[in-house]
Amino acid sequence: MRLIFLGPPGAGKGTQATRIVAKYGIPQLSTGDMLRAAVAAGTPVGLKAKAVMDAGGLVSDEIVIGIVADRIEEADAKKGFILDGFPRTLAQAEALDSMLAGKGLKLDKVLELRVDQSKLVDRIVRRAEEAKAAGQPVRKDDDPEVFKTRLEAYNRDTAIVAPYYEKRGQLTAIDGMQPIDQVTRAIETALAG
Ligand code: AMP
Repeated sequence: MRLIFLGPPGAGKGTQATRIVAKYGIPQLSTGDMLRAAVAAGTPVGLKAKAVMDAGGLVSDEIVIGIVADRIEEADAKKGFILDGFPRTLAQAEALDSMLAGKGLKLDKVLELRVDQSKLVDRIVRRAEEAKAAGQPVRKDDDPEVFKTRLEAYNRDTAIVAPYYEKRGQLTAIDGMQPIDQVTRAIETALAG
């Protein structure tokens, strides 16, 4: 099964993708996680991406498309994957189409977590507090000001990606404002259908 999770930052894509991974046994390919790992490891990609990520902007299509192209070649991605945080631009969506077409593969579903953006800053502040309380590292870009920039990037560059899939009849919208377990159930129902 090949899935995409769309939705603004803080919509719950990562949380829900983790649950679907456990249930369906397919890997979660989070470009945010891959980029953070590259930054932590100090790779050339990480060095290029760090400042943009810290400021809440989007890393270049070229870099992100490159890391996804490499990642889906790995053995665990052969049985399927959940893309979390990719595609974030129309150019990335088109590049993904060509990557998959080149392998004779198709997407099964694109799930969009729809949320009330005015509630997201509160969510992100909570996420940072919970991480801190659990002794986990707090993401630099979960600062409320940087978060607003991330939301602007979403509205400017990413919001058009969902209609791109909708036109092809591949999109399923999920109400992401429901309690976490209910969102998971709605996703499972969408995947069963
Ligand atoms: P995320 O963990 O998905 O919120 O991503 C964290 C940050 O990584 C984003 O704010 C961007 O700077 C960068 N990033 C992640 N995925 C992408 C992508 N598909 N295109 C461009 N930048 C990305």
